[in-house]
Amino acid sequence: MRILPATAVATLSAALLVAPSPASAGGSHAPALGPTATGYGGAVSTVDPTATAVGLDVLRHGGNAVDAAVAAAATLGVTEPFSAGIGGGGFFVYYDARKRSVSTIDGRETGPATMRETHFIDPADGQPYEFAEARVSGLSVGAPGTLATWQAATRKWGTKSLASLLQPAARVADRGFTVDATFRQQIADNAAAFGQFGSTAELYLPNGAPPAVGSTQRNPDLADTYRLIARQGIDVLYEGAVARDIVRTVQHPPVADDPIGAWQYPIRPGTLTLDDLKRYELRFPAPTRSKFRDLTVYGMSTPSSGGVAVSEALNILETAGLSRQDVTRALHYYLEASALSFADRNRYVGAYTPQRILDKLVSDAWARQRACQINPRAALTKPVPPGDINATGCTPATVGKPVEQGKSTTNLTVADRWGNIVEYTFTIEQTGGNAMVVPGRGFLLNNELTDFNFTGTQGTAPDPNLPGPGKRPRSSMSPTIVLQDGKPFLALGSPGGATIITTVLQILVNRVILGMSLPEAMAAPRASQRNTAGIQAEPAFRTTYGPALTALGHTFGADTPELGAATAIEFTRHGGLIASAEPTRRGGGAAGVVHPRR
Ligand code: GLU
Repeated sequence: MRILPATAVATLSAALLVAPSPASAGGSHAPALGPTATGYGGAVSTVDPTATAVGLDVLRHGGNAVDAAVAAAATLGVTEPFSAGIGGGGFFVYYDARKRSVSTIDGRETGPATMRETHFIDPADGQPYEFAEARVSGLSVGAPGTLATWQAATRKWGTKSLASLLQPAARVADRGFTVDATFRQQIADNAAAFGQFGSTAELYLPNGAPPAVGSTQRNPDLADTYRLIARQGIDVLYEGAVARDIVRTVQHPPVADDPIGAWQYPIRPGTLTLDDLKRYELRFPAPTRSKFRDLTVYGMSTPSSGGVAVSEALNILETAGLSRQDVTRALHYYLEASALSFADRNRYVGAYTPQRILDKLVSDAWARQRACQINPRAALTKPVPPGDINATGCTPATVGKPVEQGKSTTNLTVADRWGNIVEYTFTIEQTGGNAMVVPGRGFLLNNELTDFNFTGTQGTAPDPNLPGPGKRPRSSMSPTIVLQDGKPFLALGSPGGATIITTVLQILVNRVILGMSLPEAMAAPRASQRNTAGIQAEPAFRTTYGPALTALGHTFGADTPELGAATAIEFTRHGGLIASAEPTRRGGGAAGVVHPRR
């Protein structure tokens, strides 16, 4: 997001920890944090150089990948507050080098115990709320899982206390950071919603307008909140003073007496209670696991649909015997496999999908059953129907409606010198969450519950993603770790709502099938086919590949300026690391390694 020059990173690094080691990000060791860094001894990739610098400092001071990931994540809560923070949730995937095993933490937000299927239906007229009305309300807020995730990750696999890992972020919040164009724009895009709440306007609309690029953004309330958590433990957010403030904000949205600008909807309170927060529980589901050629792909299981959808699509691609020589054919299959996987995910995947159905969806037999519909010379008409989970043939079932999701979130990838890896995607759902900063606490609440479908999307078939008591909404987040012959090969993830699945898949296609280098695979123009009539594509994708794909019958929808904001690390021979972030999307990301290759 912000590209800092080497000297700025050095100063920042020295400021973050009490005793910067000679190897900290300074002097000859510290190139500016740009989109690619190669070296060894550990690596961090995030969207933001401050967060990446914090993660690298933790690694340099003996911390492991989990310690660095948590410290970087807490920093992103300060510098990327519209994408993620302790008001939200996410999915943490961890590769333990010693045990050679992949574990996950499901820190997804959870709906109130009183939530019913009609949660987003206006009782006045029986119609679903408009998305914006549902989003900017108390109704959209789920019990947050992010802080519990950080605690569990550090306790299970880390070497440092959560209290110590919150300190660098607290310091960044206190001292402030420089506002860049992306940060300012994210506020500008949300100005009407932010302007309704005194607590949000005070922090992000100084003098009634977004802060100027180049100004210093501070968040002393968040610094205090982090320090309070460090002193009292995470219970303060799940049962103590911060919990009470969250519940008050949900039940009595802090609408300003004198709002800035107009908001066209009523701001509805929600029903989340102190009990809902107290009862919040992490889950530790086994990762999804599938094979692609000589690779084993580990992803996030439900309530995320990411692992299942990426695996199903890769399995379908594997049936086609694709090669780097025929790019059009590879992209044709990429788009068709995405559409088929989305049809199945929409029909079958939600928080409570039975394991036997998940297993079937990631099986080779299912991939063959779905792949047989693909015509190498002509695109399928979209939307394609989901497969019949009880059938074995190629017969299509009834047509389902495609469903969409928002676009916010952030992702980070960390590796340490011992070979442990963290792939972590976390979010507050929309950019800006539900637009309410908890008064006096400095963080935004999530609107994750709008990831539920407001009404059924599957015709007469059941919709797996309707609201229910204490239920978690389906996600698309796809933190992915890929092993080759049992050794780490690649870790990657991205934000982007439902496009997360296709972005992760496309980077894998680019790297593994088309033979691009990781930085090329990340930079390449993207397209997303989520079982809708028109492909959503970046302009460069349509210009480059559009004619050949259109000739096969693919249809493009309106261009989208950018898809995703990925981060990744590739593991090369003899402990080498290629850390990779976006060169330009979302303002460009920041990749760094502990020891740059000289
Ligand atoms: N809420 C979305 C999900 O869980 C992520 C939001 C985004 O990336 O924009 O899939």
